[in-house]
Amino acid sequence: MAREWQLKKQIIEIGRRVWTRGYVAANDGNISVRINDNELLTTATGVSKGFMTPEMIVKVDMNGKMISKTSTYKPSSEVKMHIEVYKERPDIKSVVHAHPPYCTSFAVAGIPLDRCVLPEAVMIIGSVPIAKYGLPSTMEIPENIRPHIKNSDAILLENHGALTLGPDLLSAYFKMETLEHTAQIVWNAVQLGNVNVLPKEEADRLLGLREKYTISGRVTACETDPLELTKPKIQTALPKSSPLTDEQIKKITQQVIEALKK
Ligand SMILES: [Zn+2]
Repeated sequence: MAREWQLKKQIIEIGRRVWTRGYVAANDGNISVRINDNELLTTATGVSKGFMTPEMIVKVDMNGKMISKTSTYKPSSEVKMHIEVYKERPDIKSVVHAHPPYCTSFAVAGIPLDRCVLPEAVMIIGSVPIAKYGLPSTMEIPENIRPHIKNSDAILLENHGALTLGPDLLSAYFKMETLEHTAQIVWNAVQLGNVNVLPKEEADRLLGLREKYTISGRVTACETDPLELTKPKIQTALPKSSPLTDEQIKKITQQVIEALKK
């Protein structure tokens, strides 16, 4: 029980960070921790992650059924997505779901964060795929994340947000920070007009470090081909004026000369 109390306090703290950093709006997002083979603690539905109290963390089984029956709070309908992760990945003990603006923008644009750009990101989250869009609260999201969670601890959800996984709460949350930080830097580099992608040899050396330091979890090696994004053309409010004909120029010149004579 003491451990559960500690975990609830940690979930509250992570919720506060997620909200403070602008990774969620209103009551969005959810956080969970697997406490044993058949139980998990998860955030309740309809609460801001920035202002949670221990009663807002509920206990459910691996079918999503409430165990803490006396609670007035109900688990998030997105707990299905968390359960899918725990079923597929026994090594994962915590899941964080949020809608951070930069990585969600990539998910909306349909551009995966799959290039080798920043050393830490290459090692910690690798190539980040986009899971196909699914209707929230249905089994569509769990089904669409299934192929990706086998090979990755960080996933973008198409037109929705992001999901990060870890062997404990803090590492799942830190992957969300790394993901959003990477997305913001890639976005900024795109605005500056160039994204230098690390070469394959460097990507291999970084993955070698991952093995050397026995970093847990799973990553898919990121791509090393150039990132070429075509920026949409900026539309000007006024139509471009068409060039003057020789006849018009001659006429205007004559008018100016006549005016000067007066
Ligand atoms: Zn969401």
